Amino acid sequence: MAFVFPPHSPAALPVAGSTACFSVRRVFCVGRNYADHAREMGAANQAEGREPPFFFMKPGDAVVGGNDEISVAYPPLTNNLHHEVELIVALGSGGTNVAVDAARELIFGYAVGLDLTRRDIQARAKEKGHPWDMGKGFDQSAVAGVIQPVALVGHPDRGRIWLAVNGDVRQEGDLAAMLWKVADIIANLTTLVRLAPGDLIYTGTPAGVGPLLPGDVLEAGVDGVGTLRARIV
Ligand code: MN
Repeated sequence: MAFVFPPHSPAALPVAGSTACFSVRRVFCVGRNYADHAREMGAANQAEGREPPFFFMKPGDAVVGGNDEISVAYPPLTNNLHHEVELIVALGSGGTNVAVDAARELIFGYAVGLDLTRRDIQARAKEKGHPWDMGKGFDQSAVAGVIQPVALVGHPDRGRIWLAVNGDVRQEGDLAAMLWKVADIIANLTTLVRLAPGDLIYTGTPAGVGPLLPGDVLEAGVDGVGTLRARIV
């Protein structure tokens, strides 16, 4: 097939223990999946029962990542760029209407990620009932570390998730505190869309989100998955 310009290459992430890369298709993100973060964002207390999960997306080419220190450009039109450390689920297969019990079979691996957010743009969108896209889906907004295959790390469902800025720990939580577990998230998403190999799911962030400045160095990690390092330039 001929194209009027060369087709774009997918974003690619390194895979631990392999020379082959993980080709990124879509990026799904879960909102408010830790109660302490939902509270800090002003959401109603969910003690009376959790609400269904909700999702937003980033473009696949918003993914930036790798083995070494990841360089991220401070994005335009914000004065309040926020960090959100998250466990990323990387899919190796897909489907629709996948049962919770079968959902883990879709998973290729896991990674540490940052859901970078233009909080001021997101806040204005929330006020007006506008879409979150320009608050969440800007260039380089989906930072990802090395993909760790299930064969190496299993299915981490508890353990510390943390983020430090210039050496100060800002976010700290435990995977066990996710309101919607990974299998529930996948099963729910497959009722909405067909998932496919290459899809990434950012599974939400614990409390402690806050602003970043050019020059900041971020270190983030998830026990059993690894760490990533990024610099805002
Ligand atoms: Mn998030």
